[in-house]
Formats: sequence, C-alpha cells, structure tokens
Amino acid sequence: MKTVGFRSFALYILLFAFLGGVGWLGFSLVAHGSQWAMQPYNGHIYDEDATVELGEITDRDGVVLAGTQEGRRVYGESETLRRALLHTVGDSAGYISTSVQYTLRAKLTGYNLITGLNDTVLNHLGNRVQLTLDAEACAAAYEALNGHNGAAIFYNYKTGDILCKVSAPTFDPENVPEDIEGNEDYKGVYLDNTLSGAFTPGSIFKLVTAAAAMEKWPDGWSERTYACWGAEEIGGSDITCMGEHGELDLYGALGYSCNLYFAKLANDVGGAALEKKAAEMGFNRTLHFSTIEIAQSEAHLSGADPNQLGWAGIGQYTVLANPYHMMVLMGAIAGEGEYVQPRLTRDTGFFAGLTAGDRQLVSHVEAAALKSMMRSNVENYYGDSLFPGGLNVCAKTGTGEVGETQDPNCWMVGFCDSVENPIAFAVVVEDTNNSIGDAGGVISAVLDVLAE
Ligand SMILES: [Zn+2]
Repeated sequence: MKTVGFRSFALYILLFAFLGGVGWLGFSLVAHGSQWAMQPYNGHIYDEDATVELGEITDRDGVVLAGTQEGRRVYGESETLRRALLHTVGDSAGYISTSVQYTLRAKLTGYNLITGLNDTVLNHLGNRVQLTLDAEACAAAYEALNGHNGAAIFYNYKTGDILCKVSAPTFDPENVPEDIEGNEDYKGVYLDNTLSGAFTPGSIFKLVTAAAAMEKWPDGWSERTYACWGAEEIGGSDITCMGEHGELDLYGALGYSCNLYFAKLANDVGGAALEKKAAEMGFNRTLHFSTIEIAQSEAHLSGADPNQLGWAGIGQYTVLANPYHMMVLMGAIAGEGEYVQPRLTRDTGFFAGLTAGDRQLVSHVEAAALKSMMRSNVENYYGDSLFPGGLNVCAKTGTGEVGETQDPNCWMVGFCDSVENPIAFAVVVEDTNNSIGDAGGVISAVLDVLAE
C-alpha cells in the first residue's frame, strides 16, 4: 500500500513537471516565437536561397530603401543612400540590432504564431514597412558629415515623425568591406550613434546649467552676472575660456558660450542641484524608443570638487550626452517643456505605448526662457544666414574635448521655432574643430531638403 502511494505521488510529480514544461513552451512560443524565427542563423531568411522574403522598407514618400529581388536582399538605389540609411534600415547579417530590419523582422517576414514562416499562400512576400523619414534628407546629412564619424537626428516635434537619422562610421550593405572586423575605421560600425552613442557634450550642456540656475533663482537668474578675463583659478586649478568676455549676464554668457560664467554658475548652483536638474531633463535615465533602450546621457556630479564641478557645468568632466536624448530635449524646449514621443513608422502600434517615464523635461517658464536665449544665439552670434531663410532657428553649439589624440566632438542642437516646419535636431561631428561650420553645415543641408 505504501509503495503504491509513493508511486502515484511520483507519477503526479512527473505529470505536473510535464504539464508545466508544455505550458512554458507554449508561453515562450507566443512571447518569443517571432524572435526565434528571425535569428540571424535561420537560413530560411538570410541565406542566398532564402525561402522567406522580407517585405519592402520605404521612406515617407515611397522611396525603396530595402527590398527582396530573386531571393536576395537589396538596398537603396545609390551608395550614398545605402550608407546613410544603413543603421536605420539594417544589414543582411542582422548585426545592427537597433535597425528596422531587425526590430520589425516579425512584421517584415509576415511571421505569425499559427503558421510560422511557412505560409506561402497568405504571406509569401512579407509585409511592407513605410518609415517616417525622408531618404533625401538622410543622404544630405551623410554627405555633409564629409567623411567624419558622428550622428545626426531630426524629428517633427509636433507629430513625432523622425525625418532624418544618420550614423557614421557606416558601410554599404551591398558591398560589406572584407576588413570590417579588423580595420580601426570600422570600430563600432554596428552601433547606431544616434540611439546607442554617448559623447562629451561640451557647451550644449550650458543649457542644463542655465535651467538649473532658473530653478534656483526663479526671479533673479537673468540679472546674475559674472566676469571673465580668459582664465581663472577655481578649486585649485585654472578653468579657461576661449575669450575675455568681461562682465556678462546669462543671455550674453550663452551667446558667447563663456566657460568662466558657467563654471562659476555651476558652483553657485551646487553639484546636487545641478545633478537633480540634469536628471529632470533626462540625464541619468533610460529613455525608450520602441523596444530599444537608448544609451544614457550621464551627469553624475555628487562627488565632484569645485574645479570638476566647474568643468561639469560647461559639459566636460564626466558628462555625456546621447543624440536621441538631445533631440527630444530640444523638442521639449520647443513644445513648452514636454516632448512628443518620436516614431519611425506611421503605424504607431510599433512605437506608441512602449515608452516609460515622464516626458516633461523642463517647466513652461524655463522652456520659454531657454527658447528665447537659443533664438538670440542664432540671431546675434551664429547668424541666421547659416540656415535656409525664414526658419527662425534656435540653437546651441558645443565643443566636447575628448583628449590629446583627437580633435573635439562638435555639436549643434536646437529647433526651428516655426509653425510650418516644427523640426528639432541634434548633430554631433567627431574629430573636428568647427561647431558652427561642421555641425551647423549638416543642419543647414538637412533643413534645405526638409523645409517647406
Ligand atoms: Zn569667457
């Protein structure tokens, strides 16, 4: 009797284990089936004689960016277009994991849970995906980068449509370089710098330091003045400026991009308050774009001494900025403090509802003040002639020093304060010295294509 009881007990355990396993398999199939089917090693999709044809990827106007011809994946018409769109569209090997071809592979193959990939009757060609971006604008950005590495990302801050997104280094997906693994020039080539890169921001971070001052002295920030005579000892060693600017208020200091003004301001605001403001504005936070985690912008200042805090206030020290984040921060400043969630396909099912967190990055009042200072930068310091006419561009430049062996990262971030052209942008050009010329040149080339 005792033996029979033990046996049935053991059988029950086995039965439960079996049912549990089947249940887990079923759950996994529903949850992860499309991912399994779409792995790079699935020969049905990626091989020369692939039996599944991925659908077309087009830009907003129907320009074909990727398609399938005689079982082979083919990309845009010109080499410039293919290089400009590599990180957005994707590569045939599936290495660029933030690309559309990778993240939307289930839709592109027409995979579904019941028939898997084998339904040749209903889904022979897979589905077409139309992107929000403008292929011509992407090609213009790539050409204006002029061989430099970097990132350029633009979106409509009212609708969320991403209009231009380019990352370099890049390569032609139809002629993958043979030395791609060993050649230093291709280091990090599978990373999309717009989404997965973080760069020393330099002076674009002065917008954050300025916003922290607005929060600390809501009534007195605009009258706060500091003097600049080129270099000054702060916390034991010198902080240097590009000029000798004399006595400045915040408007003038941002226009001239005076290092000493913002180094002193950062110390008077204090490390904890500056870090808190940076966090409100999206630093030290993980932003999401569809299923993709954006590389964090970083501003960890609690342990900084006065000299380090001075450098942090002008975007040096250990501060880092991600281009996608800078773009949505610009969208927030343009849009009264809150940004619209960017999207890459009109079909918002893929992009809406997946974003966590608060999109209010600055207050209404701070947004208005930052906007007016950024407009003054272009009007009085950079020159409206830098951009196509009538766009009312508001912007801030930055030059992030990255060490002795390489020239700085040159940034420009901003937006058009325009009803017809509500476009926000972030551009960083690596290893160069001219923020207004190089980063501004990319923005000008793209706005030339996009502006109506
Ligand atoms: Zn100065």
